[in-house]
This record gives sequence, structure tokens and C-alpha cells, in this order.
Amino acid sequence: VNFSLSPVLKENDELLGALLVLRDITREVEADRMKNEFIGTMSHELRTPMTAIKGFTQLLAMGGLGQLNDTQREFVNTIYSNTERMINLINDVLEITKIESGSIDLEWRSLHLAEALSGVIAELQPQITQHRHQLTISIPPGLPLIRADAMRLHQILYHVLLNAVKYTPAGGSITIAAREVMNIDIPEPIRSTLSDNRRYLLLSISDTGVGIRPEDLPRIFDRFFRGENLLKVEAGGTGLGLSIVKPLVELLGGRIWVESTVGVGSTFSIIMPIAGEHA
Ligand code: ADP
Repeated sequence: VNFSLSPVLKENDELLGALLVLRDITREVEADRMKNEFIGTMSHELRTPMTAIKGFTQLLAMGGLGQLNDTQREFVNTIYSNTERMINLINDVLEITKIESGSIDLEWRSLHLAEALSGVIAELQPQITQHRHQLTISIPPGLPLIRADAMRLHQILYHVLLNAVKYTPAGGSITIAAREVMNIDIPEPIRSTLSDNRRYLLLSISDTGVGIRPEDLPRIFDRFFRGENLLKVEAGGTGLGLSIVKPLVELLGGRIWVESTVGVGSTFSIIMPIAGEHA
């Protein structure tokens, strides 16, 4: 049930009583659940044939059915990369339906942020090398452990770091830093959304990339939103990455925000609860 309460005043502004409106939203909730279930099933059903197409295309590209001429190879490669894009999109949509239906099971662990980061960096190393990015990591030794789910943390770090790589032209720099902060060190309006007064690890991922226009900033965490800055870097993507990252960070008890200047770069900040401090 959804409710709202408002005061009812006399003409001289004296309080006459209160108006309580109760609305039964069972049907809306049910419709939402059905929509999610439908999208979930559809995406799942689409993934199987797409995976088959990808497999056979790979076989063709590798010359498994005979040598291809240049035009044939080019076409097969185009089919392959588009199939991969489609599979990524389907996986992202599946992830969103999981988050929305609340059916994500978290495996809480005490984790080293630096370890999680090194896994993600290793995975993205080919792109970092290809872009000739200068990567600086400044994480002091002896930082406290964070309380998180390893797979979800990996997903979060992967998307944010991949964006830094995608939206930073060749030769630019990416800087990753982490430190311990108190609630009071966290900027508003984020701080007032935290209900406790405990310690967090603050991770910042800064780049010297194309930056985000002020009018795009409030929308970058929205589903399917892709900024105007894409035109400058021709980066592939679905516009879903950050819309998955934000609810995941919040599910883990953290927060994410961004500061950016067009032509200068962007800094994504993520706070994560420190292990042992949060229930
Ligand atoms: P995608 O990268 O697939 O477009 P995301 O949800 O990950 O989708 O990001 C949404 C938009 O936010 C991007 O299209 C881009 O305009 C902007 N963005 C995200 N990260 C950065 C960054 N590090 N630098 C500049 N723009 C960024």
C-alpha cells in the first residue's frame, strides 16, 4: 500500500484535520513483476541462438571451413563483432532485470580493494596498452578491508575503469587512488543519504579524457543514456554500464558520484563500507 498524509486547514489557516490517502498498488507491483519476468525470459531465450551464431562465425573466421578471401573475412568479422555486441546487450538487460526484481544473492566477504583492482586492471591491460594510457595507482599499504561481494565488486570496477579507458584519447592518463574516509569527509548531497556515521574506503578513478557536459552529468547513470562526448572518441557501448553500476554499488552499501570538466577529464568516486564496521 502506498500512502500520503497532508494537513487540512481552515480559511484562517487553523488546523482542521488531516487527509490520509491510501492507494492499493498491488496491481502496479504485479504488472512490474510480470514485465521484468517477460524481459528476463526473452533475454534468456535470445542468448542461446546468439551464442550459437557467435560460435559458428568464429569457426568461419578462423578458416575452419576453408580459407576466406579479404572481403569474406571482413564480412565475417563484422557479423562476429555485432553478435558480440548483441550478447553484451542481452547480458546487461538480464543483469538489470535481476537487480530490479531484487533477486541478486550477495556473497558478503571481507575483501582487499587492491586485490580486486589488480584483477580488473589485468583484464583491461590489452585496451590500456593499445591506448598507450599512463596508469598510476596510488593505494597506501595497510588499508582496511571492505565488506562486499567479490563478483559484484569486480563488475563495478570493470565498468568504471573501462569507461575511463574508452573516453580517454590515446596517450592520456588514468589515476586510481584509494583512502579511508569518515562520513564527514564525504561531499553533500551524498553524505546525507548515508544513515550511519562510520568509516568507508573512498576509491577515485580519474582520467584526462573528453569529459562530460554539465547537461549530461545528471543523466549518465540512466538506462541507455549515452553522452554527446561519444562523437569525439567513437567508443562502443550500450549506455547500460553505469545504470548497472549505481544500483550495485548501493546494494553493497556504497555510493558513487562523478565530477567532470569537458576537455579536461572526469573523476568517478566510489565509497565502500569498511569490513567489521557495518552490520
Ligand atoms: P556506455 O559507455 O556504454 O555509453 P555507460 O552507462 O557506461 O554507457 O556510460 C554512460 C555515458 O556516460 C557514456 O555514454 C559517456 O557519455 C559518459 N561517461 C561515462 N564514463 C565516462 C568517462 N570516464 N569520461 C567521459 N564520459 C563518460
